[in-house]
Amino acid sequence: MASSTLVDPQLEQEAHDSQATTCCIVGGGPAGMMLGLLLARRGVAVTVLEAHKDFDRDFRGDTIHPSSLEVLDEIGLAAPLHEIRHSKIYGPTLRAANTSFNPVDLRRLKIRFPYVMLIPQARFLEFIAREAKNYPEFRLVMTANVESLIEEDGAVRGVRYQSTDRSYEIRARLTVGADGRFSKVRHLVGFEPIKTSPPMDILWFRLPHLPNENSGEGRVLGGFSRGRILAVFDRYDYWQLAYVFPKGKYQELRAAGIGELRKNVAEIEPSLQEQTAFLTDWQQCSLLSVESSRCPQWYKPGLLLIGDAAHVMSPIGGVGINYAIMDAVATANLLTEPLRSGNLETADLAKVQARREWPVKVIQSLQSFLQRRVIAPALQSQAPGLSIPWYVRVFFATPVLRDIPARLLGMGVRPEHVEN
Ligand SMILES: Cc1cc2nc3c(=O)[nH]c(=O)nc-3n(C[C@H](O)[C@H](O)[C@H](O)COP(=O)(O)OP(=O)(O)OC[C@H]3O[C@@H](n4cnc5c(N)ncnc54)[C@H](O)[C@@H]3O)c2cc1C
Repeated sequence: MASSTLVDPQLEQEAHDSQATTCCIVGGGPAGMMLGLLLARRGVAVTVLEAHKDFDRDFRGDTIHPSSLEVLDEIGLAAPLHEIRHSKIYGPTLRAANTSFNPVDLRRLKIRFPYVMLIPQARFLEFIAREAKNYPEFRLVMTANVESLIEEDGAVRGVRYQSTDRSYEIRARLTVGADGRFSKVRHLVGFEPIKTSPPMDILWFRLPHLPNENSGEGRVLGGFSRGRILAVFDRYDYWQLAYVFPKGKYQELRAAGIGELRKNVAEIEPSLQEQTAFLTDWQQCSLLSVESSRCPQWYKPGLLLIGDAAHVMSPIGGVGINYAIMDAVATANLLTEPLRSGNLETADLAKVQARREWPVKVIQSLQSFLQRRVIAPALQSQAPGLSIPWYVRVFFATPVLRDIPARLLGMGVRPEHVEN
């Protein structure tokens, strides 16, 4: 579906004019859209407010993990989602100086979908929006930039948002902040996330596929060399590159010149030597400052934060979307009844945080372990390749141990299931 069809002027006006709902969700990312769909299919009136006019965004992950595919299957959407052009990743191959191995091979797991589906996030969100619109309780308002909260007697009662023409107000029993890493809602309620600062920054850029290159195989390439890490994802029509380097070294990187960047990329991933010729200007690259954080409190009367708004995930393992979707499932499971009956208590919101906080803590601890023990040493090393320590090789050669990382990556900690 073309993104423009999301904006039907008549429906948009109707959505603006509807000034009250049961649940108002700020943010149409994976967390917000999934929660909107799950609540609407169980009869809860819900309005999703999305600041942008469409779902196309530059910096987004494109991965749907096995546990999210299971959730979609539980509501009958896995099969239609697979009809959209996608590819499948079974696990990356790591090349090191002394070996080459697959730290993760999802095919070995006995699960319904033993792969990560790679699909442009905009297509995924359009798909969810299309399905959600089958339910009369669901409304999606695009170009609705939430600017303030309606607060009465210490409780949040809705939001005010700016659209193209003027500002609007929507009242709700529950407001959910699913507005991502720079959450305005989080800022408005004054919740301060505890930040950890991963030791790296990322240059994010594309290289074209050459005419004779196969695509759609979901290849993940890359490796390490001289204090740099490269991850390369085959995104059907182009290669997406993440060039990881020590935090704060961007000016040094630029001073060395774009030619040096081309050389480094080709050194780490020789199969892209020819394509690097297309990298000619720093404007083709975006600098992403890597962040990881978690709010100590996710709720207050009338308001709940989920997804990146509650916890920004480091890019290690690419699990942010999966955790956002799992938050949405847990929220729908725990809050549908209180919302339907009109008896929503702050204690119900606390249950969502209690259920989702520890899986987030576990995975963030693992990410920070990998940052300290693998990424940081790799970024400090000036060797042309890294050696994998013997105990890591033994771990991945031991059948009972080797599938633990794959299970953690694919299914996460405490995968959620839709309660009908
Ligand atoms: C470069 C990059 C690559 C990544 N790659 C991956 C990956 O491969 N796999 C993976 O799982 N994760 C990846 N992530 C992380 C992933 O994108 C996030 O964890 C995930 O999108 C979180 O979902 P969310 O719904 O909580 O928030 P978001 O996806 O950030 O969605 C929030 C939505 O809220 C909207 N919004 C914001 N403010 C307002 C407002 N005031 N009013 C109304 N709407 C508002 C935004 O426009 C946005 O649509 C990546 C992140 C980055 C930066």
